[in-house]
Amino acid sequence: MSVTQQQVLDSLARIKSPRGVALTNANVLSAISAAEGKVFFSINVDAAEARAWESVRAEAEAAVRAIPGVTTVMVALTAERKVGAAPPPPTPSRGTPGVQPVHAHKPPQGGASPMARQSEIPGVAAVIAVASGKGGVGKSTTALNLALGLRDLGLKVGLLDADIYGPSVPRLTGLHDKPELNDQRKMIPLRRFGLAIMSIGFLVEEETAMIWRGPMVMSAVTQMLRDVEWGQLDVLVVDMPPGTGDAQLTLAQNVPLKGAVIVSTPQDLSLIDARRGLAMFKKVNVPVLGIVENMSYFQCPHCGTKSDIFGHGGARHEAEKLGVPFLGEIPLHMAIRATSDAGNPLVDSEPDGPHAAIYRAMAGQVRDQLKGVIAAA
Ligand code: ADP
Repeated sequence: MSVTQQQVLDSLARIKSPRGVALTNANVLSAISAAEGKVFFSINVDAAEARAWESVRAEAEAAVRAIPGVTTVMVALTAERKVGAAPPPPTPSRGTPGVQPVHAHKPPQGGASPMARQSEIPGVAAVIAVASGKGGVGKSTTALNLALGLRDLGLKVGLLDADIYGPSVPRLTGLHDKPELNDQRKMIPLRRFGLAIMSIGFLVEEETAMIWRGPMVMSAVTQMLRDVEWGQLDVLVVDMPPGTGDAQLTLAQNVPLKGAVIVSTPQDLSLIDARRGLAMFKKVNVPVLGIVENMSYFQCPHCGTKSDIFGHGGARHEAEKLGVPFLGEIPLHMAIRATSDAGNPLVDSEPDGPHAAIYRAMAGQVRDQLKGVIAAA
């Protein structure tokens, strides 16, 4: 049974804002995504009023869940701070799911650590980001294979696809199921290849996510971090949205990251973008675990001959210049494209091949840098 936007609006019209106005007339609703029983929308309010709105958010979610045919509902409460306004009251790390003040306007000043307003995810020792300055450089492919490399080192690993503008983890893993809720109404991540996996793509259509604005992106990502029963993990790998705009900066500020891996292709342009990525993480005091050069050189699938068609080595050079670790070069190879696009990531499907070895070596370097954090947990 399909659910229409009108049905959702009808049920929301019966809910009142804290000032007694029908929700549909309160000028706070985002566009509503309703497809195949999955409903997603956000309520956008001023940060100063966020607390008063949390019960409305919960009511709205319950009302939509009660519509016949609705299988998944995600109602995000986004609280946007107006420039110059007083900061919102501190949000407890738990207890008010859905309320995530968005600090989209100003990066932290001086020595104040952005981590100060973050809280760890219970059970998760280290959250790391895989980022790129632009799309299409193989960030998601690298994130998944890196996660599998960490798994092969004996770690408990999760993968969060926060690439809200184009979630590709469903395609890369072949997973298309809907996550179920546990008794605490937390989403249970899907499991494949020994990884706990969550993607916004499991909840909404790819095209829907593309049109979200920054605050909505933030809210969705924070919910996927905190309203998911991740269990005990050594490392949670977050596949970030590409680019270094406000959404990415805010995400880097709000997610308790222990480090970031930057993926770049060798071309100059993408290195410039990667440099922006590095600067962004520096700004929010997230250590850069290293740069990966993807599509570093072309490797003939038949004879294995390597050709430096893109001027390979740029990222290594850049990493040396910037004083950050260089994690490795991954060739442009048919097997990598074919396996990731078929939902059989290479580290899992060809574990003894040369490419899997490259990803595992990268994972080893990442693990070594996180050792203290993982051991402490
Ligand atoms: P991004 O996350 O940066 O947008 P993806 O990981 O989705 O990029 O990769 C984009 C495309 O490039 C996909 O079709 C993927 O299979 C392919 N790809 C990624 N890395 C490689 C590689 N090293 N060799 C060949 N194809 C690759």
